[in-house]
Amino acid sequence: MKEYIIPVFVPHLGCPNDCIFCNQKSISGQKQKMTKEEAKKTIENFLNNIKDKDSKKEIAFFGGSFTAIEESEQEELLQTANEYIQSGQVDSIRISTRPDYINKEILKRLKKYNVKTIELGVQSANDYILGRSNRGHTFKDVQKASKLIRWYGFNLGHQMMVGLPESNSIDEINTAKALIKLKPKMVRIYPVLVVKGTKLEKEYKEGIYEPLTLVQAIETCKQLVRMFSDKKIEIIRVGLQNTDEISNPKNKQSEVVAGPFHPAFRQLVESSMWYDAVVSKIKKLNVKVQEVEITVNPIDVNNVIGHKRENITKLKDTYEVDLIIKQDEKIKQGKSKIEITKIYTDFLDENEKEVKIKDKQKI
Ligand code: SF4
Repeated sequence: MKEYIIPVFVPHLGCPNDCIFCNQKSISGQKQKMTKEEAKKTIENFLNNIKDKDSKKEIAFFGGSFTAIEESEQEELLQTANEYIQSGQVDSIRISTRPDYINKEILKRLKKYNVKTIELGVQSANDYILGRSNRGHTFKDVQKASKLIRWYGFNLGHQMMVGLPESNSIDEINTAKALIKLKPKMVRIYPVLVVKGTKLEKEYKEGIYEPLTLVQAIETCKQLVRMFSDKKIEIIRVGLQNTDEISNPKNKQSEVVAGPFHPAFRQLVESSMWYDAVVSKIKKLNVKVQEVEITVNPIDVNNVIGHKRENITKLKDTYEVDLIIKQDEKIKQGKSKIEITKIYTDFLDENEKEVKIKDKQKI
């Protein structure tokens, strides 16, 4: 069944915190307070455009600190969303918030209005890095909030960042390990972008902060995706959503100053993982491979090919290997069948040339 997310951005305009990377208005694309009328309009618009009436629909209050906004504002928005659940037009509600704005009272309120999923902005499991980014909470808050959220029966989601000031890939892998222990159902991974009007922009301009390159961000995200996937934790996003404000720094409207921005960041990460998988397969064979045939689920074809056919070109240029891609709906998403269809035989004797290699292991 198709699932739709109805995003309602709730900026925390009066947020007392001062996270180094945040300019809440640019990230959410919302410069005004979200009112119940505005929320209704957004939801209605969305519902009117959904053709598949049997699909699952979820209202998602994004913006980072839902439970930290004025209580009356929360109640208003939750009540509005809940009306759509009561009328059967929407199936669930999700919110995202800070770990230090979760307690029993807050969770009871969210339960009352049928919120199903709570995503916590964790960013890092390292207290020094959290402090360096002015987050205003520690990892202990994340642990406490995560346990409480699960105990109350909500779906738990975590959001982490890659490339925070003074953080390196080992810190980020340690964050993923610490999060896995808290058993989230889902995660989002965001590489840090330098956004206009933030403290990070100042540090960047003064040469104190150096953002990750695109390649560095992809390499770390690849490891994190592998770790979470191995534990069957759903990865709902890798990279910030491309909007008018969050777009290529060269665009006039873009609020991004620097950092590993790419409109198809997740595809770059997943394609690179497919490339690694094919190369590792080839390297295990004791022959010089000329052509590889890979059969995957149709959903994976684009990632195997790579952004702008990058994987095909790179394999040819680096290993002189041709990659042939076939589709088969019977193969599970993420799985594949690899067959070596041609090997270079120039340096083999006549008997050896007869050798046919059939390698159909899954990767
Ligand atoms: S990211 Fe930090 S500064 Fe920005 S709204 Fe959330 S808590 Fe406030």
